[in-house]
Amino acid sequence: SRKPIIAANWKMNIGPAEGAQFIESFKTILKGKDVACDTVIVPPFTTIPSVLNALGGCGCIAIGAQNVSQYDNGAYTGEISTSMLQELGLKYVVLGHSERRQYFGETDAIINAKIKKAIAAGITPIFCIGETKDERLGGILEPVLEIQLKGGLKDLTPEEVANLVIAYEPVWAIGTGLTATSKEAQEAHAFIRKVVADVFGADTAAKVRIQYGGSVKPENVEELMAQPDIDGALVGGASLKPESFAALVTAA
Ligand code: 13P
Repeated sequence: SRKPIIAANWKMNIGPAEGAQFIESFKTILKGKDVACDTVIVPPFTTIPSVLNALGGCGCIAIGAQNVSQYDNGAYTGEISTSMLQELGLKYVVLGHSERRQYFGETDAIINAKIKKAIAAGITPIFCIGETKDERLGGILEPVLEIQLKGGLKDLTPEEVANLVIAYEPVWAIGTGLTATSKEAQEAHAFIRKVVADVFGADTAAKVRIQYGGSVKPENVEELMAQPDIDGALVGGASLKPESFAALVTAA
């Protein structure tokens, strides 16, 4: 009985003014509606204070960050530390996203260091993994996922792994409109859970929540979430409008 978790990854979209408007509309749309899942919004750093202000202490939505430094405060120009996220009361941080791996050179080792920093600060990592189209077509889906998983989760305790969130995001499905079929997604999620069981034990594997990400929209979220190993969604494009993100959250 894992609680579903739906998260909006706004990526490099939505500034402070639009972020505050989004929260106002989102709260209005959801007023009086039943929300059965954990709801998370992950804005760009500079949008976070205005979103928190617009939420006004409404605990119905948790806020996360899209990245964090693996270093403590100091001479690291351009970086943001876990203590800075803590000071804002942030609950989640997205780590290992394929865009960070692809465009900003993040390796499994860097991601592992960031995951450890986040956990030490009491911030829950949303740890992303996923294969490219060539890797899937080349028949190396499972080894790719296994290497990313073992690398990112290296030296963590079973309890730490049970409490984080894994996001399976096939790179070919991100922003392309090409969603993995529910069967493809379920197979990958089952494999991820099996690797977690092998390394951290069956109890941890039964507890850890695994989100699917890649062209999730209100029209396909229910079928995806009906799969036994899919515990939620990490949503890009369809999270940028309050109406569609609200539709996703109420469907979950
Ligand atoms: P899209 O929902 O736009 O495909 O993005 C998915 C994603 O990368 C979320 O982190």
